[in-house]
Amino acid sequence: MAKLAVASKQICKIAVPMPLYRLFDYLLPDSIDPASLQIGIRVSVPFGKQKKTGVLLEVCQDSEVQTNRLKTIGKILDRQSLLSQPDLQLLFWASRYYHHPLGEVLAAAFPVALRKGKDAVIQQEKAYVLSPKGKLLKPEQLKRAPKQQAMLALFQQSPGPLDSATLKEWNDNWRGTLKGLLDKKLIMLAQDNEMIDTPVCRQAPLTANAQQQQAIDRIRSTLGQFSVFLLEGVTGSGKTEVYMQVIEQVLQQNRQILVLLPEITLTPQLEQRFLQRFAVPIVSSHSKLTDNQRLNAWLMMQQGKGGIMLGTRSALFTPMARPGLIVLDEEHDSSFKQQEGFRFSARDVAVVRARNLGIPIVLGSATPSLESLYNVSQQRYHLLHLPERAGNAIKPRFQMLDIRNKKIQDGLSESLVAEINKTLAKQEQVLLFLNRRGYAPVQMCHSCGYVSRCRRCDANLVIHYDENRLRCHHCGSEQGLIRQCPVCQSGELRAIGLGTERIEKTLAELFPGKTVVRLDRDTTQRKGTLEDYLQRINRGQADIIVGTQMLAKGHHFPNVTLVALLDVDSGLFSIDFHSAEKLAQMIVQVAGRAGRAEKEGRVILQTRQPDHPLLTTLLREGYRAFARSALAERHMAALPPYSHQALLRVQAPNAQAPQQFLLAVVECLKVLNNGKTLVLGPVAAPMARRAGQFRFQLLLQSVQRKELHNLLDRLLPEIEQIPERKKVRWSLDVDPVDLY
Ligand code: ADP
Ligand code: ZN
Ligand code: ZN
Repeated sequence: MAKLAVASKQICKIAVPMPLYRLFDYLLPDSIDPASLQIGIRVSVPFGKQKKTGVLLEVCQDSEVQTNRLKTIGKILDRQSLLSQPDLQLLFWASRYYHHPLGEVLAAAFPVALRKGKDAVIQQEKAYVLSPKGKLLKPEQLKRAPKQQAMLALFQQSPGPLDSATLKEWNDNWRGTLKGLLDKKLIMLAQDNEMIDTPVCRQAPLTANAQQQQAIDRIRSTLGQFSVFLLEGVTGSGKTEVYMQVIEQVLQQNRQILVLLPEITLTPQLEQRFLQRFAVPIVSSHSKLTDNQRLNAWLMMQQGKGGIMLGTRSALFTPMARPGLIVLDEEHDSSFKQQEGFRFSARDVAVVRARNLGIPIVLGSATPSLESLYNVSQQRYHLLHLPERAGNAIKPRFQMLDIRNKKIQDGLSESLVAEINKTLAKQEQVLLFLNRRGYAPVQMCHSCGYVSRCRRCDANLVIHYDENRLRCHHCGSEQGLIRQCPVCQSGELRAIGLGTERIEKTLAELFPGKTVVRLDRDTTQRKGTLEDYLQRINRGQADIIVGTQMLAKGHHFPNVTLVALLDVDSGLFSIDFHSAEKLAQMIVQVAGRAGRAEKEGRVILQTRQPDHPLLTTLLREGYRAFARSALAERHMAALPPYSHQALLRVQAPNAQAPQQFLLAVVECLKVLNNGKTLVLGPVAAPMARRAGQFRFQLLLQSVQRKELHNLLDRLLPEIEQIPERKKVRWSLDVDPVDLY
């Protein structure tokens, strides 16, 4: 009898966020009725000396571990699963597809606060909106209470709710004024304002042009069912307007929308446009928000209170009570791929999520990824094209500037300087693009050729004159500038090559009296600074803007009419097959900043490779033609998307360990591989040492995705047995977007 009682102990299988490919068994406290438990709820469990938040996946009676050795669940954190069935299925799928431990994949679905075991309760931060009466009252009618009059006007001018922080910014003595307006029932708490009984739009949509209308109609006709649309349109062609008109219809059906963007800096811009258009609660989620703000945003969507969620990659798994649509803007952008830990592609998983939920997904880009264009050719995605700029904006003109044998000062050729002068004379702005920050990438001794290298990486230290520092851009280590060569003691050290800081200084000399603004990671490090810069630029407080890829992403510079790419050549000779695609996208994206208003824009590319096929095709025939030829090349070489890859990266402080480990992996593969997967390597990583770690990699490639994944399924348990694994750190990257 006693034995039976032990056998009927309830065992809970828990996914714990650990880099281990297994679930963990825990006992259920006797006081808890197993029938009351739902799959997917969070539980707090003891793990070693710590407590971890895991997810319950199964309650059963058996365990491979003796029950008397099992620990007991500490606390049940949720009464109901916060994730829906289809979303749980999505995460199970993602764990299998990326061959990543389920506990960590499930953790990625939750905001930090919930991962830490916090209650799933919205922390009410009070925010206020106009009451129906307050919307109609003219502020002048409050003439006798001038402060209230001003505050009412403030509410009437702001598209969204105002919280205490914003009101405090407006006036330190806001509380009394607010109370007056609350007493008069002119404003009310935002949470008392029900989403359903307000009209979804506060502003009428623009009149769509023919192509926009076609796109809108196509997408609208599929609401309520799965479909993938690739909305291809140059910058300014009105993609956002298309999203908004589709979103409007989804909101009218009382459904929710998830909008994913590659960059935090793009969210405020889009949020403003959405707030002006839509009257529903709009929430956002990105890494600059506090844990509490992100928790609230997540729960608002999960509980069906939020209408639209705007977020970056990590917002992908936000649950929606009534999912209606997913929009993923700038779908080509590689920041949709997570580069550490759970290496998922937010774009690819979003497509699977839309399929599981039975809703449409719109992928937008001026420069669609080759994968997406390939999927269009396979009729998996529907292509919608906006070939023209919306409104009156004119397309920019491209010009290749051959700088071979030309006089050049710090990266600026004489003809370019002349063009800059002409543009400035017309009171228009110039934008110069160079994808390298710092003053110069190399500090070299003029007498003996000594170069300052990073001690921990295979890399040169970059000169940052502004701060008198040498910095490694790979591991972050830094030191003071070298004044004297450590080898020959010469004091003549030279800066070789170009960075944005150097261009900025040269520009200041060449164009005295003009304002030069530099936009890169160094100048925009502080919170909010990028927005400040953007505002200054668009208010006309800048003549020349010089910056890195930060400039390539989605920002509008209406008064910029000349864009120049100072150095595209270094991108032409990369060993990674992805780089041609990335370079072409970068050129088109940067060019898209020119002449967005009614003024014509010009784009100049300085190059010593004017006959390079990538450049000639791109400039003469456009991005589509480039993509066609790039896809043809990939087809010939059987590279993705015509094959599928997984990259095993290994690193260790010991120089031999990574290679030895990978040689052992190759031995396993000899047994496991049925010949349908190519095993390439092991080879040293392109940067063989980084942050003191020696790095090696092994690439697996197969024409059939299934073969590759079956092989990985067989391989991973074997890897766990390789003795050399203890000396290294390894990671698997499925569908890598770069081979570094
Ligand atoms: P994208 O998202 O493709 O860059 P946007 O939707 O931001 O394009 O549109 C670019 C500009 O053109 C915006 O200022 C927008 O208000 C305007 N615009 C978009 N569609 C129309 C339209 N149908 N009529 C007039 N202006 C439009
Ligand atoms: Zn020297
Ligand atoms: Zn370094």
